[in-house]
Parts: sequence; C-alpha cells; structure tokens
Amino acid sequence: MPESLKKLIDLIGFLPGIGEKTATKLALFLLRAHPAYAENLGSAIARLQSELHECERCHSVCDRNEMRCSICRDEARERTTLCVVEDYLDLVAIERLGIFSGSYHVLGGAISPANGVMTDDLHIDTLLRRVSSEPIEELILATNANLEGEATALYIEENLPKDRDLRISRLSRGLPNAGYIEYADDVTLVSAFKGRR
Ligand SMILES: [Zn+2]
Repeated sequence: MPESLKKLIDLIGFLPGIGEKTATKLALFLLRAHPAYAENLGSAIARLQSELHECERCHSVCDRNEMRCSICRDEARERTTLCVVEDYLDLVAIERLGIFSGSYHVLGGAISPANGVMTDDLHIDTLLRRVSSEPIEELILATNANLEGEATALYIEENLPKDRDLRISRLSRGLPNAGYIEYADDVTLVSAFKGRR
C-alpha cells in the first residue's frame, strides 16, 4: 500500500469510533472523491482549531472573532433558566430538540478522581459566579446520569450561593447507555428534559 494512503488510514483510524476497516473505506472514498471535496474537507480540518475558541461566558464553542457564542449573544434566549452540561456535545444534543430557550454552561467534563479530573479542572467557579451575578431562577443540572455526573451535580448543588432562591432540577431518569445524554435518542431526551425535577 502506498505510504500516503497508509498514513491517511492511520489518521482516520485515530478518530473515536472508527476501526481500521472503516478507516480504509473512508480513505478510499476520499481518494476517489471529487478533488474539490477532498480539498474543502482538508482545509476545514486545518482551520478548525484556529478559527474557533471557547465562549467567555458559557465555555461552549464559538467563532474566533466573537467573544461570546451565538446562544449567549441571542437576545431572545431566556436568562432566567440555565442548563448546565458536561460537554459541548450535550449542548448540541439538547439544542437539536428545539425545546429549550434558556442559556447554557459547559463544565468541560465531570468530576472523576479515577481519571484525574477534579473540581478545579471544570468550569464550576465561573458557573457559581454566573449564578451570583445573573438573573437565574432555574438551574437544570443536566450532567450525565452516571457516577461522575451525579457527583458533579451534587458538588455544584452543595456549593451554590445559599442566599439565592433557585429552583434546581435534574433530568428525569431513564436515559439509556449508562446515562449519557449524547447517546440518548431525541424522544427519550425530550421526555427526560420535560420530566425534570
Ligand atoms: Zn456562550
């Protein structure tokens, strides 16, 4: 096999969820694809990290030339309901449902001593500051329904400012696949979101 093809297969195979067989299939697809497609894909990948950065307010992903993401900049979004998620992927999954019009806060993971992730590694300090300074009435702790997600939600709850009258909710149980929001189908996620308490 030519060296450049082998290298591409290795690179594609490094992506999550892609085995060697799929990587080979995708590499061959790219080899036979329209040159403009392969070039567009290559330059989109090359530009990705330099053109995006973290929203200064909610830590989701936003354009490099903006300080805040499109959700934070959207005046129509409610400021009174804040949905706390572990990962940007979870935000994308909830946004896709089209049932939430509040704001988000992306923690950047969950507390997991086994994996060396402690509270200081997460955006919990900025979340607590937002709760103190923004007109938040409801906090939806939409962390994953597993050990790490539960520990993270509990830690946040315990450290919230005591002088604030907040409604705290968690997504209802019944999320499949070890409680991962990103793997839940839309129907399940909608019912977990609407059944929050
Ligand atoms: Zn934002």
